[in-house]
Amino acid sequence: MKKIIIILTVLILLLVTLIVARTLLHQPLSKSTADTVNISVDEKQLAKHMSEAVQFKTISFQSKELAIEEFSGFINWVFETYPEVQNNLEYEQLGGYSMLYKWTGKNPDLEPILLTGHYDVVPVIPGSEGLWDHAPFSGEIADDHVWGRGALDDKSAVISLLEAVTLLLKEGFQPERSIYLSFGHDEELGGTQGAASVVEYAKKHGINFLWSLDEGSFLFDKMIPGIDQIMGAINVAEKGSLTLQIVAKAAGGHSSAPPKQTAVGILAEAITKLETHPVPGGLEGLSAQMFDTISRYMPFTFRMLFANQWLFQGTIETRLADSPFMNAMLRTTTAPTMLSGSTKVNVLPIEAIATVNFRLHPRDSVGDIISHVKAVVDNDNIEVRVRENAGRPASQVSDWTSVGFDMLEKSVNEILKDTVIAPGVMIAGSDTRHYGKVSSNSFRFNPMTVTQKDVATFHGTNERISIANLAQATKIYSRLMINGSAP
Ligand SMILES: [Zn+2]
Repeated sequence: MKKIIIILTVLILLLVTLIVARTLLHQPLSKSTADTVNISVDEKQLAKHMSEAVQFKTISFQSKELAIEEFSGFINWVFETYPEVQNNLEYEQLGGYSMLYKWTGKNPDLEPILLTGHYDVVPVIPGSEGLWDHAPFSGEIADDHVWGRGALDDKSAVISLLEAVTLLLKEGFQPERSIYLSFGHDEELGGTQGAASVVEYAKKHGINFLWSLDEGSFLFDKMIPGIDQIMGAINVAEKGSLTLQIVAKAAGGHSSAPPKQTAVGILAEAITKLETHPVPGGLEGLSAQMFDTISRYMPFTFRMLFANQWLFQGTIETRLADSPFMNAMLRTTTAPTMLSGSTKVNVLPIEAIATVNFRLHPRDSVGDIISHVKAVVDNDNIEVRVRENAGRPASQVSDWTSVGFDMLEKSVNEILKDTVIAPGVMIAGSDTRHYGKVSSNSFRFNPMTVTQKDVATFHGTNERISIANLAQATKIYSRLMINGSAP
């Protein structure tokens, strides 16, 4: 008996030693060695330009109606405000109002790169204008911020890119590799006119981009508990989308003598099953890489869990899945969004329908999700209806060990020393669903630093950007143009 206790104690001690040793070894892989680069920008002028840009009501309405004068007004404003860009770069207007610039490189044999943003914005919810501290299209400059719709999403990227080109042109810089700039006018409607036309144009001219950069994730300040460093996720993939109708069928009839289970009851059961049986997911591939990088900066307990996934993987996945945002990184999500049944109170429905929206993780195909739903629901009285064009798979996963990713990481660190960069997955959509078709690798990232408070203003109330952020983005983009266009 005593022997067994001794053996057990030794085993436990060994296990604890192993766990602690692995935790202590779970350290940041290598800090970026980029030297700090000092760049000065005229912040007052930058703020003034951003303010003017916000004042154009370049709104993408669901009805797809365009206020043409706002869009052409914005384009003319760009021409007048950035004469260096206009005089030195070739310009094409595509798909209506999307702007494509080519900055010809010294070496035409090198594959070009593509830097993009969009200048259309989502509408302000009617009636919510009064909730804004400064009117949504005023472009007011107050409290060191420029206020208004599009300040973060995504006019700030467009303006910062134009400012960066201007800065470099004034210094006499010419890239080795050609740099294309594309500013979409219908991203919020899927980019089917703008970005899609840019892709057509590239194909027609035999252009393939070495890599492309579009809006995406940001630099996060104190958004991940326990981490003090600024963290940037460069999204290397974009989730897909699939909308299915779950149709429960029953005999119908008068509501005064209902059967034990009605179509609504069958449907409710199916939805509950779908919610309690999420699409399998977990820490592997891209998700594993992302959390592996981030966890190296976390406090001891978290580091211990991630350093010992052979023991704690289940615990980690369950904890991550508790947060809707983290859960969306791990798996294809399931969201029932619309319901319909009978059209009259005393008539039993012969069909009760739920619309369910799935956001596809790169590991799952549209077919995989349809099979998953059928297997989970498993009821002869239920039809899983797939409408035409109901689904779009996730994007390809771009290579986070490739040159474009490295140059992004380097450029960020030249301006913001010791920023931690990890690959991530974009849970919303971007124009890169198009641009990716003509780019060997596609990245989605905005070089502005945001806090939890800022995140709520995307497509919401009180959208604004700090002048410091505009300057930071301009500096990082200008370094990216230099680093990224090198042979
Ligand atoms: Zn956007």
